[in-house]
Amino acid sequence: MTESTRNADVLIIGGGLSGTMLAVQLLRLPGRRQILVIEPRAELGRGEAYSAVELGHTLNGNAARMSVDPDNPDDLTQWLTEHIAAGGWPESAEQAVPISELFPPRGLFGVYAQQRLAEAKARSASTVEHVRAEVIDVQVDADSTLLTLDNGQRLRGNFAVLATGMFPAARTPQTHSSGVNAAAVDPWDVATMRRLDPRSTVLIIGSGLTMVDAVVSLEQAGHRGPIEIFSRHGLLPHVRRQPPAWDDFLAADPALRSPRQLLRELRRQCTIAQAQGIDWQAPLDTVRVHIGRLWSQASEREKRQFVRHVRPWWESHHHRSPPLSAQLVARLHEEGRLRIRAASFKGLVPAQSGVTIAVRQRGEQTLTQVTGAALINSSGIEYDWRRVARPLPQQLLKRGLIQPGPLALGIAADVSGAVLDAQGQVSARLFAMGPPLRGMWWESTAVTDVALQAKALASKLAAV
Ligand SMILES: Cc1cc2nc3c(=O)[nH]c(=O)nc-3n(C[C@H](O)[C@H](O)[C@H](O)COP(=O)(O)OP(=O)(O)OC[C@H]3O[C@@H](n4cnc5c(N)ncnc54)[C@H](O)[C@@H]3O)c2cc1C
Repeated sequence: MTESTRNADVLIIGGGLSGTMLAVQLLRLPGRRQILVIEPRAELGRGEAYSAVELGHTLNGNAARMSVDPDNPDDLTQWLTEHIAAGGWPESAEQAVPISELFPPRGLFGVYAQQRLAEAKARSASTVEHVRAEVIDVQVDADSTLLTLDNGQRLRGNFAVLATGMFPAARTPQTHSSGVNAAAVDPWDVATMRRLDPRSTVLIIGSGLTMVDAVVSLEQAGHRGPIEIFSRHGLLPHVRRQPPAWDDFLAADPALRSPRQLLRELRRQCTIAQAQGIDWQAPLDTVRVHIGRLWSQASEREKRQFVRHVRPWWESHHHRSPPLSAQLVARLHEEGRLRIRAASFKGLVPAQSGVTIAVRQRGEQTLTQVTGAALINSSGIEYDWRRVARPLPQQLLKRGLIQPGPLALGIAADVSGAVLDAQGQVSARLFAMGPPLRGMWWESTAVTDVALQAKALASKLAAV
């Protein structure tokens, strides 16, 4: 027997930070709306990032940079001040810095997001309800959207929003046909790491911020053996410091556009800063607000050039490591326990015990085999929805309701987040926000990106 269909005004698919902040912004608008957030996790507001349970898995930016309220950059600092005064996060007292400069644990940030949702709910005439399920199909007609859930339930809404976040490469089995996912330990799974021989060698693929988290997890688990890291370019993330303000040189010269011009000018600005004894991070941080504009104006060729030549550099310089985690990585590196090699992962090799992987070191033709007691895959995100083996992306593609975004990064949409169907028609009913719009804006993932998009999309949905 099929269940009856439930109706609502807005259906938000995914209750991570994006879906939750969209709900908060809708609640804050005048009117009376029924909003359903469909999310399989037990709690809203956490998603992958803010489900972290270890205190050492922190935000990669300090509190002053991580407000979820675009109208109040001090919102997180204010919340933290009250939370700490009420006895929360007592360990923060060990860091002798102002609250605005603390890097909160990500689990605590999840509590902050949840509290902002609870407050918005209490003050609003609109309602938000968490439907605990996975959306497996979407249908769209001229007047509404119809969702099918994995429990068979159907939900009809005026609008549906894809706030499905990132699909980690580690969780998408088809990205490495060699079965690396089954063999790998989750980067945040401290309990499994505790079961390893503490002196054993651990192999890590990828050297970005997930690797940094994995090293923190290993340390927390009591691992004291060698850590061998393999990544294509062998670059480690820089540490995040608190640089002073710097003139917004891109605002002053909007003619600067091509990746080559930009990089040349950025290097020049960094050299000027350093000659004045100012941190190179100061000029770099002024670039952030222009990324969306620059990326969306760039030609396909320029985008490809950026991804090919600038991306590794951008990732290691822009996506910087929280200081305490960076100190740990630096210490292990100095002690010779942590080693990073520029090498591409080529697959798993059958082994009697432990894990053996084949890598091709930079500049070499032949493959090298490396063995460890365990493997951690921190090689990133699968942005190409055609390769994501989940029912929803596959159904959306099959129905022609979406098309891949530029360079197959996420999905295509207009500036408001209305998705483009397979024929390029802008949907009046189906929207997207956050990481699915990577191809549209390049940076569409961080707390501040998501917070801004949530506010703009809520206004758009309320105005239609
Ligand atoms: C480990 C990690 C650490 C990070 N740290 C930082 C940081 O320090 N600072 C920062 O600015 N950014 C950080 N980020 C970026 C982070 O992704 C964003 O800040 C933000 O969490 C994105 O939220 P989201 O809701 O779009 O995605 P997600 O957090 O991925 O949430 C998406 C949700 O959608 C749900 N979902 C997916 N498909 C379906 C479906 N078919 N039906 C129903 N629900 C579905 C998932 O269960 C998930 O809970 C981090 C990301 C990760 C993964």
